[in-house]
Amino acid sequence: MITLKEALTKSKEELAALTDELEAKAKESGLNAYVGFERSGEGVPILVKDNIQVKGWSVTSASKILQGYIAPYEAMAVKNLKAKGMMAFGRANMDEFAMGSTTESSFYGPTKNPHDTGRVPGGSSGGSAAAVAGGIAIAALGSDTGGSIRQPAAYCGVVGMKPTYGRVSRYGLAAYASSLDQIGPIAQNVEDAAILYDAIKGHDPKDSTSADFEIEDIANNLNPDVKLKIAVIDSYVEAADADIQKAFAQTVAKLEAAGHTIVHKEMNNTKYDIATYYIVATAEAATNLARYDGVRYGRRAESKTTEELFFNTRSEGFGEEVKRRILLGNFVLSSGYYDAYYVKAQKVRHLIRDAYNKIFEEADLILSPVAPSVAPKLGSIHDPLEMYKSDMYTIGINLAGLPGISLPVARNDEGMPVGLQLIAKAFDEKTLFNGAASMEKAVNYTK
Ligand code: GLN
Repeated sequence: MITLKEALTKSKEELAALTDELEAKAKESGLNAYVGFERSGEGVPILVKDNIQVKGWSVTSASKILQGYIAPYEAMAVKNLKAKGMMAFGRANMDEFAMGSTTESSFYGPTKNPHDTGRVPGGSSGGSAAAVAGGIAIAALGSDTGGSIRQPAAYCGVVGMKPTYGRVSRYGLAAYASSLDQIGPIAQNVEDAAILYDAIKGHDPKDSTSADFEIEDIANNLNPDVKLKIAVIDSYVEAADADIQKAFAQTVAKLEAAGHTIVHKEMNNTKYDIATYYIVATAEAATNLARYDGVRYGRRAESKTTEELFFNTRSEGFGEEVKRRILLGNFVLSSGYYDAYYVKAQKVRHLIRDAYNKIFEEADLILSPVAPSVAPKLGSIHDPLEMYKSDMYTIGINLAGLPGISLPVARNDEGMPVGLQLIAKAFDEKTLFNGAASMEKAVNYTK
C-alpha cells in the first residue's frame, strides 16, 4: 500500500483509480472494516470513523438508533483535511457510540483483525485500524475517548495518535464523553500520522474547548535523531502479559542504544484510573445520549404516545453496552450518589493529571504499554468489567488530557503485533512525534 506521503503526490485521476481499487479490495477482504463507501470530493482517500460527520452521508456511530440519519454539516477535521489534498472515503466500523474495546458492539457486526481473523481488531476505532493494517485504507480518522485510537492501532500493528485535548476540533464528532473525546489519525507509519495530524489540527471557534493558539506543522520537520529523557513506570508494566513485558524490555534497550536516557518513575494512583474514567465517561455519555429520543435524530420506533415514543425508540435503538453506560451514568449523577461518585471522580481526575505533570518535570516522554495483552479472540470477553480493565494503560492519558501515540514494536510467538505508546505533556506534540520517529527507527518493526 502506498503511504499517505506518496499518495499526496499523485494526480486526481490516479487517486480516483486507487480509490476504486481500495473499494474493491475492501469488499473482498471479509474484514468488515468499512460500513459504507461514500466519497466526498476528490483527493487522497481517508477513511472516516462512523461517528464523524461528513455532510450528506449517513453517519450512524454504528448504532441502530441512528439508522436513517443524514449528516447536515461537516466535521471541522474533515473540512480541514479536504483543504490539504485529501477527501473523506468510506465510513469505518466501530463499537456502538465508541463504547468498547473490541468493535464487537457494532450494529454492523464485528470487524476482524487482519493478522488473525479469529481475533478482534481492538476498539472502538477497530474499523479504521483494521483497514490501514489490512491494506484497504491509506490512512484513517479515529476518535479516542479512553484509548480508542491507540489500542486498536496496537492490536493491528499500525500507528495511532491521540492529540492533546483541545488540539483537534470536536465539532462534528458525535459526543461520547465530551471532556475526553479527541479525533486523531491512524496511519501506516509515524510520518503519515504526523501529516494527517497536521492537516486536522487547529483552533475552531465552533468548539468551545478548542485551544486558541496555532502551532507549527510537524511532519516537515520530523527529527528521528533527537535524544530524549524517557520515563518508564516499572510497577505499571508488571501488570501486563509476558509478551508485552518482553517487547517492552527490548524496546527500552533499543531506545537506550539510540541515545535516549531512560528514567525510572513510580506512579501510585494508577489503580484509580479505571474507576475514575468509567464514572466520568458514563456520566457524560448518559447526558450526551439523552438527545436520541426518536424526535430529533435517526430511527423512530412505533408508538402511540410521546412517552412510549421515547421508551420504545431508546429500548429498540441502543445496544446492551450503551444501555449499561446510560444506566451507570445516570446512577453516578443521581442525587445522593453525585457527591460520592461523580464529584469524587472529578477530584481524583485532578490528582491523576498532577501525577503525570510531576513526571514531566523530569522527563520529555513516558513509555508505556497500550494494552495488557495482544488482541484477544473474537467473542472471548464476556464480562464487561474484564473489558473495562483492559483499558488500564490508555484511559489515564485522556483523563489528564495528554497527547499519546501508539506504534508497533514487535510480534509475539503467534505473529500478533505488540504496540507501545509514548505520552507527552499537553501540547507538546512536536516532542511526541520526534520521539515516535526515533522509536520507529530504533525498533525497526517489519510488517
Ligand atoms: N474502551 C473505552 C470505552 O469503552 C474507550 C473507548 C474510546 O476511547 N472511545 O469507553
